Amino acid sequence: MRWQLLVALVAAATWTAARGEVKDDFRGYKVYRLVPRTPQHVDFLNNLQSKLEEQVPVDEVEIWSDIGQLSPEAVGPVLIMVSPEHQAQMTKSFDAEKIPYEVTIADLNKAILEESRRSDVRSTSSGGISWTEYHDYPVILSFVDFLVRDYPSLVTKTVLGQTYEGRDIVLLKIGKPPADGKTKPAFWMDANIHAREWISSATLTYMTNKLVTEYATNQTIQGLVNQLDWYILPVVNPDGFAWTHNETKNRLWRTTRKVNPYSNCLGADPNRNYDHRWMVAGADQKPCSNTFAGPYPYSETENLVLTEAYLARQSQIKAMLSFHSYSQYWLTPFGDKTFPPDIAELKAVAHRAVNALTSQFGTKYKVGSPSEILYDATGGTHDWAKAKGLTKYSYTPELRDTGKHGFVLPPEQIIPSGIETWEAVKVIADQVIAEFGPTLD
Ligand SMILES: [Zn+2]
Repeated sequence: MRWQLLVALVAAATWTAARGEVKDDFRGYKVYRLVPRTPQHVDFLNNLQSKLEEQVPVDEVEIWSDIGQLSPEAVGPVLIMVSPEHQAQMTKSFDAEKIPYEVTIADLNKAILEESRRSDVRSTSSGGISWTEYHDYPVILSFVDFLVRDYPSLVTKTVLGQTYEGRDIVLLKIGKPPADGKTKPAFWMDANIHAREWISSATLTYMTNKLVTEYATNQTIQGLVNQLDWYILPVVNPDGFAWTHNETKNRLWRTTRKVNPYSNCLGADPNRNYDHRWMVAGADQKPCSNTFAGPYPYSETENLVLTEAYLARQSQIKAMLSFHSYSQYWLTPFGDKTFPPDIAELKAVAHRAVNALTSQFGTKYKVGSPSEILYDATGGTHDWAKAKGLTKYSYTPELRDTGKHGFVLPPEQIIPSGIETWEAVKVIADQVIAEFGPTLD
């Protein structure tokens, strides 16, 4: 019964729209929240996922997550975005499977408009940025320039290169050089390698602003900036990010925007494009898949310039966080059921970090490797940074929420996310200072 429904579903799909075309809006779309309770439910979802990837454009029906395959232990909620044409058959198949579900976003277009609403009062300081709304890439760049201009003794900017569409990829360094000229340990943070995960760069710019603007008045921050160099890459995938911000385009775009030969689908998943165990798990070779790993490692300029900059600072970097959303997981390496030899230390520090985060507003995070929590996936940043960048504390935090809003997180949650995530970052920073400080040489 269930496979008949699934086959009917995919057969009914119109294949005219491919990933990469203009998406006018998400009018009539719903997002369903399912809670798989049995291995059969997980099986059904995994099969659905692969069928969908093959046969239905991801902007019509998509299992919303940062996942590849769900692991049988996965019991967390799963969100599925469904266009109006597919809703009847989808819910029929959920019923046939007896998977409990509810409509969590009844009108996706309305939720997106609501999320994108602008504050009445435009911020005129800090380069026009604020943390009560989400901002497009030009505002983030002007925020970076504001920091460099107003805090020249603390902040420097390097343009690492240009994206496929010609946008600057920008790295900030925040730190006071030690008086003796020696090298301090460093902490790398980046965000928005996945374009649609807006809360990631919003949270990171919130913390960046704090590090710089509170330096003069906050002793804790003074200590952290004096004792560490902070490398911050606020948007790893600016082309994809810009695409999600353009009102007539696609809010739920995930990948880069490079043209793929012999395909109508643009871009690759840059979080599958690194050369540590590339294409081993949770990645795809089909350009129309949202987990397309690219034709070869580093096919995406964004990955190439990031790794060059990272490796040039490799001996200094002792902690790396690559922010994503959503799920509230603090992911440890690796993404293929293997573990680094020091995994116990990484997990102990992650648990302390997450406890500090939770102490602010009660937001709960799970700690573990992708395979332990929900999926296998290789070719991502935190695996690469651990294995090739040789960075001890390398993690992927999946930020708020757990599936009420998914990628379309209301802007009121930016500041709380910034406040709580900063608590976790401080724990890791203190660990790095205690273990590797005060200087490396
Ligand atoms: Zn992501």
